[in-house]
Amino acid sequence: MTRPQKNNTRLFKQAEKYIPGGVNSPVRAFKSVGARPIFIDRAKGAHLWDADGNQYIDFCLSWGPMILGHAHKDVLDPVKKVMAKGTSYGIPTALETELARRICQAIKSVDKVRLVSSGTEAVMTAIRLARGFTGRDKIIKFVGCYHGHVDHMLVQAGSGALTLGAPSSPGVPKDFAKHTILVPYNDAEAVTKAFDKHQDKIAAVIVEPVAGNMGVIVPDRAFLKTLRTQCTKNKSLLIFDEVITGFRLGYGGVQKGFGIDADLTCLGKIIGGGFPIGACGGKAAIMDHLAPTGQVYQAGTLSGNPVCVAAGIATLDLLKQLNPYRQLAATTAQFCQAMSNALNEVGLCHTINQMGSMFTVFFGTGPVRDYTTATTSDTAAYAAFFKHMLDHGVYLPPSQYEAWFLSCAHSARDLNHTIQAIRQWP
Ligand SMILES: *Cc1c(COP(=O)(O)O)cnc(C)c1O
Repeated sequence: MTRPQKNNTRLFKQAEKYIPGGVNSPVRAFKSVGARPIFIDRAKGAHLWDADGNQYIDFCLSWGPMILGHAHKDVLDPVKKVMAKGTSYGIPTALETELARRICQAIKSVDKVRLVSSGTEAVMTAIRLARGFTGRDKIIKFVGCYHGHVDHMLVQAGSGALTLGAPSSPGVPKDFAKHTILVPYNDAEAVTKAFDKHQDKIAAVIVEPVAGNMGVIVPDRAFLKTLRTQCTKNKSLLIFDEVITGFRLGYGGVQKGFGIDADLTCLGKIIGGGFPIGACGGKAAIMDHLAPTGQVYQAGTLSGNPVCVAAGIATLDLLKQLNPYRQLAATTAQFCQAMSNALNEVGLCHTINQMGSMFTVFFGTGPVRDYTTATTSDTAAYAAFFKHMLDHGVYLPPSQYEAWFLSCAHSARDLNHTIQAIRQWP
C-alpha cells in the first residue's frame, strides 16, 4: 500500500501480542483481502481517520449501525447527558421502556421486546424462546445467512439442501449442530421439503429477510411468503433476523415492506446507534414465556444499559424525524449505477445487488441469489480492488461476502470521489 502505514503497523504488532490475531472480531484482521488492518483514531460523518492520519470514506459503517454517520451531535449530546448521571445500575430505568415502546410501535408484529447487549444475544434469545415455546428442537437455517456466533447457528452447508448440519467451527458439538437443518436461500421448494421431512419437530425458521452476510441478496417475496405459510401450517415460529435490516430499509422492520409478519424479530446494530445492543421481540403470548413471567431463562448484567439505550432512542427519533429512507434508496441506486459504469470502463466484471441503502458489488457475472452463486465471485479480484480503494481513501468491507452501506452523511462529493477512485483502477 502506498499511503503511510507506520502507526497502523506498529499498533497491529502490539495488538497481536495481547489479543488473539490482534483483533476482537475476526474480519477486522483483513485476512480475506490479504491486507494488514488499519487502526482507527476517529470518525465523523461518512469519514474515518486512521492512526497514520489517512482519511477514508466509510462504506462499512461499523457493519451497519452508523446510518446517521459517525459522531452525530444529536446522538452524542443525549448520550453524554445520560452518562453524566451514571453508566449502569442493573436496576430498571424509564429509558428502557422508551426504547422498547418505539420498537413496538414501529414493528407491527412486535408487542413486547427484551433488550440485550448484542445481535448474537438477540438471536440466542429468539432460538431458546422458540424452542421453549414450541417444545421442539430443530431450527431451519439458510446457507450463507449469519446470525451471530451462536453455537446452533454456526453451521454451514455440507452438500446441497436438507443435509443435516456439520458445525463450521471447532467447539460446536455435533449434537448441537444436528438440530440445525440447512436449506439454500431463496429456495421455497427446499423449505417445503424440509417441513415435509421433519414436520412437528421444527421449532423455528430463522432467516435474514434481506441477506447481508453473504453479500446482499434480495429475497423473492414468494420465498418469504412460503416461510410464513409453512411456519403457520406446522405451528413453527418464523424468526426474522433484522439485526441489519431493522431501521435500515425503513423505519421499523423490512417485514412491513414485504407484508409478512414474523413471530419473533431480532434487532441490533442501528437500534444502538453505535453502542452495544440487541433486542428480541414478538407477540406478547410468545414473549411472556421469557423469565420472569415464563420459564425460558434469559438475563444480562448490562441489558438495557442506559447509555446504549439513550443512543438508540436518539437514533430512532432522528430517523423518524428525517425519514431519510426514500432519499437514501434513490441515492444508493444512482450510486450503484455509476459504480457499475465505472467498473465497466475499467473492465471489471461485476454484479451489484442493492436494496435501499444496502448493496454489494460481487466480482462475477451473476445473478447472485444464494450462497452457491455468491461464492462463484472472484475473491482475489475483490481483494485487489479493496486494497486499491483503500489506497485511494475509500474503506469497503474487508471481505467480498459483506454488505456495503450508505449513510445520511455521505455527500455527492464522497460518492464522486469513490467513482473517480474506481476509474483509476488498476
Ligand atoms: C451482525 C449480525 C448479527 C450479530 O450481531 P452482533 O451484535 O455482532 O452480535 C446477527 N445477525 C445478523 C443478520 C447480523 O448482521
